[in-house]
Amino acid sequence: MSFDLVLFGGTGDLAWRKLMPALFQAFRHGTLPESGRIIGVARDDLSDQQYRALIRTRFDEVDLAKRPSPEEFDRFAALLHFLRMDLSRPDDYQRLANTLRQRQADTVVMYVATAPSLFTAVCEQVAAAGLNTPNTRIVLEKPLGHDLASNRAINETVRHVLSEKQIFRIDHYLGKPSVQNLFALRFGNALFEPLWRRENIANIQITIAEDLGVENRGAFYDQTGALRDMVQNHALQLVCALAMEPPINAHADAIRDEKLKVLRSLKPWTSETLDQNVIRGQYTAGVVAGEVVPGYREEPGVNPQSTTETFVALRAEIANWRWAGVPFYIRTGKRLAGRDARIVVNFRPAPHAIFRTPNGAANRLVIRLQPKDGLELHLLAQGQDNRQHSRSAIQSLTPVHLDLDFDKRFGSERVGAYERLLLDVIDGRLNLFVRSDEQEEAWRWVEPILEHWRADASGPRPYAAGTWGPAAASAMIARDGHCWSEEC
Ligand code: NAP
Repeated sequence: MSFDLVLFGGTGDLAWRKLMPALFQAFRHGTLPESGRIIGVARDDLSDQQYRALIRTRFDEVDLAKRPSPEEFDRFAALLHFLRMDLSRPDDYQRLANTLRQRQADTVVMYVATAPSLFTAVCEQVAAAGLNTPNTRIVLEKPLGHDLASNRAINETVRHVLSEKQIFRIDHYLGKPSVQNLFALRFGNALFEPLWRRENIANIQITIAEDLGVENRGAFYDQTGALRDMVQNHALQLVCALAMEPPINAHADAIRDEKLKVLRSLKPWTSETLDQNVIRGQYTAGVVAGEVVPGYREEPGVNPQSTTETFVALRAEIANWRWAGVPFYIRTGKRLAGRDARIVVNFRPAPHAIFRTPNGAANRLVIRLQPKDGLELHLLAQGQDNRQHSRSAIQSLTPVHLDLDFDKRFGSERVGAYERLLLDVIDGRLNLFVRSDEQEEAWRWVEPILEHWRADASGPRPYAAGTWGPAAASAMIARDGHCWSEEC
């Protein structure tokens, strides 16, 4: 099968940090058809050779194991081409049309990896140039809009040009092996399903913590913030994967219908819950991994008076029979104490105690997403050191855990998120992409938070870089008698 992958934004950060390495891995694994063309598009005046040389130098910054040898790069580079276009100029799309007409590929993928402000223009001009044929697929990066209205406007324009089955809205968290394994755990194993409900689960915590700051993306981040950058998309998609009902099959719409029901069941905000259950923070200078780092407002590209949040913690509830009353705590931020993305499912303690257990100890399932993916099942067991208590009538239990390290079990060379998603687009598989109604529901739910913040002059709470965020995030969860997993 032949394909053309047009990479709008082919010289940008996303292209060289994520997309090119992912395409190369697919090439190395033999899953990327060699009959493909990858056409980088940007305003620079580059020849194919210059573009290949640029991409080659970028690979120097990729992990050693994922870097091509010179011979491998030469073979991969044969797929790479460059087209100079200004995406805001309608005339330039004719050049793209000419390039695509040179050979009629079976599939044409247009990956829009440029500023979101260009999404609508790109879709309109692609249609005006007659490039929206039935074998065209379009990939849209996040954030798709900055609120419900702008998200709808983009979706309406795109849907006017292409049918829903040609639109691939990417949320790379859905491509992560750990999220695939969450689906496998829930819907490929019968063990947890009877336990997966309010009667047995006390609370669920989702943490997506980064120790990095905004790096060279200060200007972008300052317009976006943690709620739009992480919660509206990645965190809510994780909530869906955790809370959805088993789909009737593994087809895209069966999965997306169930995810949509979860988003529709999110308990609406009230002024009281907005005050008490949503915490925003912004990092100040601090120490991360032994290094002094500047505060957010000192970062390049950031407004020195910025009120953009770099941290959010919130308590959500899903109003349905399975989950009523179970708090879903979401926490994400930059410059936190470590790079750590995990889901912790805290089960209720045993209903009647015949053993002595450490304070608050209960069963817990931990799904690790990064830096390494894996599963931990925390249990209580009788350890060897119980000899000293052997005369006591009540035995003590010790927390232990079963640890499934997916790298050890399956090797660390597994298919990464972008690699998998890019191959899915080329093959036309929509399972791991987000439908427009899911996105709209997610925006509908986060929008009251944005409005509440706009009206609240107090701004985000400061937290020192290298900590777990404002103390108010711990106080919020403590009100329910719970604690974040690293505090318990
Ligand atoms: P970036 O580094 O600023 O790159 C933007 C790319 O678009 C460059 O290649 C730029 O090249 C090109 N471009 C800009 N204006 C253009 C125009 N008028 N015509 C043609 N090309 C144009 O941005 P990025 O960080 O890669 O982000 C791209 C998209 O991915 C954004 O929507 C972002 O939100 C999303 N995203 C990025 C990341 C990430 O880690 N970077 C993660 C998730 C999502 P020229 O300026 O030379 O034309």
